[in-house]
Amino acid sequence: MPTDQPLPAAARIVIIGGGVGGASVAYHLSEMGERDVLLLERDELTSGSTFHSAGLVGQLRADPALTRMNMYSVDLYRKLQAGEHGVAWTESGGIKLASSPERLQEIRHQISWARTYGLPLQEISVHEAAELFPLISTEGVVGAAYLPSDGYIDPSQLCNALANLARSNGVRVATRTRVVGIDVEAGRIRGVRTDQGDVACEIVVNCGGMFAAEIGRMAGVRIPLIPMSHQYLVTEAFLPQRENPLPTLRDPDLLVYYRQEVNGLVMGGYERDPEPWTATERSYDAVPADFNGRLLPENWPRFEQLAQNSQVRVPAMADVGVRMIVNGPEAFTPDNEFCLGETDVAGFFVAAGFCAHGIAGAGGIGKIVAEWIVEGEPSLDVWHMDISRFGRDYRSPQRTLERTVESYRRYYDISYPGRQRDAGRPLRMSPAYPWHAANGAYFGEKAGWERVDYYEPNAFQGNGAPRPDGWAGRYWSPAIAAEHAATRRTAGLFDESSFAKIEVSGPDAATLLEWACDNRVARGIGDVTYTQALNRHGGIEADFTVNRVADDVFSIVTGTAFGSHDMSWLRKQARRRGADVRIDDVTGRDVCYALWGPRSREILTQLTPADLGNEAFRFMTAQQITVADVPVRALRVTFVGELGWELYASSEYGATLWRSVWEAGKDLGLVAGGYRAIDSMRLEKGYRVWGSDITPETTPYEAGLGFCVKLGKAGGFEGRDALLASKERGLERRLCAMTLHDPHSVVLGNEPVRVGDRVAGRVTSGGYGYTVDASIAYAYLPMADAEPGTAVSVDLFGDWVDGVVVAEPLFDPAGLRIRG
Ligand SMILES: Cc1cc2nc3c(=O)[nH]c(=O)nc-3n(C[C@H](O)[C@H](O)[C@H](O)COP(=O)(O)OP(=O)(O)OC[C@H]3O[C@@H](n4cnc5c(N)ncnc54)[C@H](O)[C@@H]3O)c2cc1C
Repeated sequence: MPTDQPLPAAARIVIIGGGVGGASVAYHLSEMGERDVLLLERDELTSGSTFHSAGLVGQLRADPALTRMNMYSVDLYRKLQAGEHGVAWTESGGIKLASSPERLQEIRHQISWARTYGLPLQEISVHEAAELFPLISTEGVVGAAYLPSDGYIDPSQLCNALANLARSNGVRVATRTRVVGIDVEAGRIRGVRTDQGDVACEIVVNCGGMFAAEIGRMAGVRIPLIPMSHQYLVTEAFLPQRENPLPTLRDPDLLVYYRQEVNGLVMGGYERDPEPWTATERSYDAVPADFNGRLLPENWPRFEQLAQNSQVRVPAMADVGVRMIVNGPEAFTPDNEFCLGETDVAGFFVAAGFCAHGIAGAGGIGKIVAEWIVEGEPSLDVWHMDISRFGRDYRSPQRTLERTVESYRRYYDISYPGRQRDAGRPLRMSPAYPWHAANGAYFGEKAGWERVDYYEPNAFQGNGAPRPDGWAGRYWSPAIAAEHAATRRTAGLFDESSFAKIEVSGPDAATLLEWACDNRVARGIGDVTYTQALNRHGGIEADFTVNRVADDVFSIVTGTAFGSHDMSWLRKQARRRGADVRIDDVTGRDVCYALWGPRSREILTQLTPADLGNEAFRFMTAQQITVADVPVRALRVTFVGELGWELYASSEYGATLWRSVWEAGKDLGLVAGGYRAIDSMRLEKGYRVWGSDITPETTPYEAGLGFCVKLGKAGGFEGRDALLASKERGLERRLCAMTLHDPHSVVLGNEPVRVGDRVAGRVTSGGYGYTVDASIAYAYLPMADAEPGTAVSVDLFGDWVDGVVVAEPLFDPAGLRIRG
């Protein structure tokens, strides 16, 4: 950029950072018609992490949306190569080796769900892998997968090409222009201050890579990431001249990756003892002001283990000389996923924290973030990458550091369902936590909360329950079956204090929520409503219950992990509508204990003078009552399909309330249970889970939640027009319940579902229903395949397991048990 040009005084959108992220966002914004865009780079383009990247572009990730974004990247890179910008994209293909039986299972699982995207990932034999990459020793290799469209690219060329294309679309690029401040007024972006002058703007996109945390601080926004040192080496030339380049190669069991570099190899990996670059006792993510176009000193001792591993797989690595070691810093996040989207400051977006897959992701990231800015929402469900997934617990830099280091260390590990993380625990605990611990709870962690998965001592009562085969059976206990059965038979007591609780109050609270929700929620005081909040396309952005507590106060309860997300969605709606409301996270204020089961009324009656009869206390209503001297807001709701109540009480009463309910119920057959039993029961009832069964990409009609949609309500609601249009077009697919014939085959999610020989859908969620005695799976299927009785098969680790579409809910379709 001609830095001799004066900086404009104003631009609609300012992008901070001229790495591959910023360049891609600029290009995609310009492609979507945004012309008033200014990209600011404090040094030269591609002088951050981008210039020292190894440039591998692998498309397959654990997250479906990210895989689709990476596929888009490859399409874009192909086009760039073919265009006039001369970007060196090498579509070499990519191999992933399995050096353990578990890894082969992972590969088969990935192959199965890659099918649902049209990603041509295929299993190849060990022999074929060796033919494609003749340098490998096949010792210990048990299988492999090959993806012909993977490859590698020159990162600096990519960044410059995207910036040039953006420029030719009218984007202004100012290098050697450092942003030193961001002006925020009334929670909204007003402009940026730079060392070359100030620029007024409506939108800022923080594409600062590892500098993004620092840039976030200028706007008072926390971006949880840590600059980590990441190393690879480049060998001397030793490869014979080849007609075709070697494919990229990953051996995750040995923690290493390779690609061809001229006639040598690049080899890097993820060591078990990673090094956070900038973390000292007093600083976590501050990058030196002059760190541009620079590398870190090589750290051979830390790389040595990877170097040894690399020789196991490619013996030639033992003899070949090392031309250089590249040690570059890169922004990693606490869960190895990107930070994308709008922050709590209106107009302040982020696209950073690319965790060493930013080159692979750049195309898709730019597209998604541009959509988010221009259209208000991205076209894919990017919940796993949405900055709003990080709650207040990540304000702590130390916690961010611990979790990030753990994620880096586990980068290549297989993510078995139910496998728990260790770092930074315990952090958030219910007042009943000591009771759970003393009674043999097995804890799972979510959003920093220690939650009971099940109680080990209940296991003996569940003996005989079918243990799922394979991965689904890895972190499993018969206690899950026992707690499920006891709840259906007598009663179960569950600690759901981790549920995120949001309070919406103020003069416009009722009108805002009526606009944000598809159901009528501003009903009588005490009423409880299950609803979704939709985006403009009718997709489900949030799914929660709303309890009207007073004329101008509403209490929302949503999933443990979704509090920050749902709150920022509601805040965004409030800003758009100019609503006079307060939206507060009150999660920690109240405990929530669920007492469910046929004897729940009998148990609770002992502790309260309140009339709990069907007439006095209707389903989907709330009342202020006392339970064992504890003031409680009791909600007659259920997530398991049984009679019962959720008891909300101020936290200081929590220990007393739990103990009292337990004491009252234990001789009546009450069992304390955990989240795994809840999940099994909710599957039998067909209750949907946001993030898997329902997402921003699915509408309530498709999800079978049409009963929540009140098209005719006064004033309309967000997403209504899109729903009307979709109704007119007619439904094309529907969320269906299926059961599998083999009770030991239990899905994990994302498996393809076949009708005949055709892949018709992908599993959203599933598990075992211990009452209906069946392995249950859910998937969106075309209407023609959605009829109960349709024969299906589901690909589990390469084996097609037969099943059938069934009418739902599978358990108590008339809802008699809920009515008690
Ligand atoms: C050793 C190594 C190997 C890698 N290998 C791969 C790989 O094989 N495949 C892959 O997909 N990914 C890989 N990556 C990751 C990839 O390189 C990064 O994810 C990507 O380059 C990050 O791009 P970015 O635009 O987010 O950040 P950056 O490239 O760091 O860009 C951020 C820019 O913001 C600028 N900036 C910061 N503060 C300010 C300010 N105040 N004002 C103005 N400008 C500012 C900086 O100067 C910088 O240029 C690797 C990374 C490393 C370190």
